[in-house]
Amino acid sequence: MIEKRQFYINGQWVDPAEPNDFHVIDPSTEEPCAVISLGGKADTDAAVAAAKAALPGWMATPPEERIALVEKLLEIYATRAEDMAQATSMEMGAPIDMARQQQVPSGSYHLKNFIRAAKNFQFDKPLGDHAPNDRIIYEAVGVAALITPWNWPQNQITLKVGAAAVAGCTMVLKPSEQSPLNAMIFAECVHEAGFPPGVFNLVNGDGAGVGTQLSGHPDVDMVSFTGSTRAGTAISKNAADTLKKVHLELGGKGANLIFADADEKAVKRGVMHMMNNTGQSCNAPSRMMVEASIYDQAVEAAKEAAEKVAVGSAHDEGRHIGPVVNELQWNKIQGLIEKGIEEGARLVAGGPGRPEGFNKGYYVRPTVFADVTNDMTIAREEIFGPVLSIMKFETEEEAVEVANDTVYGLTNYVQTGDPARANRLARKLRSGMVEMNGQSRAAGSPFGGMKQSGNGREGGVYGIEDFLEVKAVSGWTPE
Ligand code: NAD
Repeated sequence: MIEKRQFYINGQWVDPAEPNDFHVIDPSTEEPCAVISLGGKADTDAAVAAAKAALPGWMATPPEERIALVEKLLEIYATRAEDMAQATSMEMGAPIDMARQQQVPSGSYHLKNFIRAAKNFQFDKPLGDHAPNDRIIYEAVGVAALITPWNWPQNQITLKVGAAAVAGCTMVLKPSEQSPLNAMIFAECVHEAGFPPGVFNLVNGDGAGVGTQLSGHPDVDMVSFTGSTRAGTAISKNAADTLKKVHLELGGKGANLIFADADEKAVKRGVMHMMNNTGQSCNAPSRMMVEASIYDQAVEAAKEAAEKVAVGSAHDEGRHIGPVVNELQWNKIQGLIEKGIEEGARLVAGGPGRPEGFNKGYYVRPTVFADVTNDMTIAREEIFGPVLSIMKFETEEEAVEVANDTVYGLTNYVQTGDPARANRLARKLRSGMVEMNGQSRAAGSPFGGMKQSGNGREGGVYGIEDFLEVKAVSGWTPE
């Protein structure tokens, strides 16, 4: 069994102040695969102190030098890709090929985008031609606590670390205790890249411990958090006493509006998108809304697509989906599937229990419900599993109203052959992102939500700006 109890503080791996063993469980087998230690207040304090001490020097480091270190990190990250894929697959259940092709590459993608955005970013500029003695200086927010979830670990870690680093913030990363191993490999990459001690620190721990200690810490200037809306609320409340900046990337309940004039692959694409990463994506298109005239055929097509989704061990190569992350999530998903049946949704694929052939591992049957109404629990709550809800709509107005009738506002999707309608809906849907006709957002496009999906933006120049303060100076002498 892997034993990795140390934390990365002030440029070195150190023992926890007090050991507090925690077993990481492999969701494919339900067996422990590693032991880490959960940190406590002394570890959190040490990491924050190191970040605070490193801040003046790091802020004063010219942006070109900070960018060069991120470039070095990107180079080293590539050499550890396979280690990172193996760790991710084992600890959170992404099938190994998917970990290699999607999870790990998402990290290099974001680092590359930050490097490009930072090179073009003016950290210091005049207010405007009308005011030659006014200067705008973008300055690091300060010590940033980065709290990340397990579902797309490299994606979330690099979105925070890459932006914080080029912005000049020092940081303490607390990765999810469910997926700490890949984060420790990432910390090894940061070390090898040669970042000055204290700029990047990692402390493992849970939400009640290190997470809470960070969000309430007087020397932490900003919390950047990705995870559940529940934890986002707790963090906001705890951070309020010290009025730190809180950046939140939370859950979602995306609507996927499919009109009769959509391309013929729209339904299948929606199902595959939902099932990817075993449904554990905050931007999953979990409410498929279909225009009445093509509803029956869409339900048939969705059933067929879901029944073709294979389920298997994360350790096996291939294009199947893996288990969900842990027992808690498995139980939650099972409860919601039962609830869907109880509340009268029509089960057309999958259902409760493990898929045939499995009696161990947190495997879930790829499930599709039809005739869902927006008041049902499965339409309102984020399931975070391979469960799709299909609903029928008659008019465009009704579709928009139902799509927006949720507390979330992360990503909505539109499938239509009518460009004017697509653009109209992009404006009307209340979400941080709208993706149309299967086209993914381009490099540097900001990721984030509105309403209870959060309040910040990550990626590219928008992500860097969230780690910066705007300082306005008057009486500046042009140099
Ligand atoms: P979670 O909120 O339980 O945990 C996320 C992280 O927060 C973990 O590191 C955890 O230890 C920590 N944490 C938990 N409670 C805390 C507290 N009170 N104070 C401080 N830290 C705390 O979520 P999860 O189960 O790990 O991840 C799934 C959730 O994350 C889903 O709701 C999903 O939609 C959301 N998510 C959102 C995005 C996004 O960008 N919007 C991306 C991925 C996941």
